[in-house]
Amino acid sequence: MKPFIVRLRFHGDLNVFLGSGAGDGVIERRLAEKTSIKDVIESCGVPHPEVDLIVVDEQAVGFDHTLAGDAKVKVFPVNNRDSFHTEKRLQMIGISRFIVDGHLGGLTRNLRLFGFDVGYDQHADDRQLLEIMVRENRALLTRDRRLLMHAIVQHGYYPRSQNPHEQTIEVIRRFGLSELIAPFTRCLRCNAPLEEVAKADIIEKLQALTQIYYDRFRRCPNCEQIYWPGSHFSKLQKRIEEIRARVRGTP
Ligand SMILES: [Zn+2]
Repeated sequence: MKPFIVRLRFHGDLNVFLGSGAGDGVIERRLAEKTSIKDVIESCGVPHPEVDLIVVDEQAVGFDHTLAGDAKVKVFPVNNRDSFHTEKRLQMIGISRFIVDGHLGGLTRNLRLFGFDVGYDQHADDRQLLEIMVRENRALLTRDRRLLMHAIVQHGYYPRSQNPHEQTIEVIRRFGLSELIAPFTRCLRCNAPLEEVAKADIIEKLQALTQIYYDRFRRCPNCEQIYWPGSHFSKLQKRIEEIRARVRGTP
């Protein structure tokens, strides 16, 4: 067939995925055969779970839309939810179950601190991560762009920042989770929900000062780690308040 030109404009922060040659977020592709819009977008480096809205020649389309002639395409991220085409959005928000790749241990800990259900195994390979993602219906968090582009991934996110604190804010914003934050309800080590436990039941496991100064305890039913509002508690509390404020406000 006759070659045709597709002109793509990437909005919002999707330009983090584009090469340095696309400073203004615009990429042109010359194609010689019918191609799905999803493949064209991913050929520009943008993983499909990052794409919330695709507009081809002023018409919102899905990932399976096929391009066969000249076209102007606008691509929007999730964090750019304006009032237009709200019914044509391709991603879901409100997902609070995650599987996190082995490089994001700090993010994992922070999300668990907020009470979110986060699967994490430092030694899992890509195949195992994807298996858990599907089996347990989790969204994938990874800075491995290729992994996020895997066809089997439905929900996922690529943290922009390298900093776990900033990554946490990004994830809470991306998935709209600020109302679901429940601090100190989940084991930071193994992800199990914590249970209240009577002091008398665990007192022999506590150090002398802890026995004296604290009365409320939670225990992980899985790994038996004991949690109490100890010296680092107020520091964590401060961090949580700061993140909450940042999520509510503008960046
Ligand atoms: Zn545990």
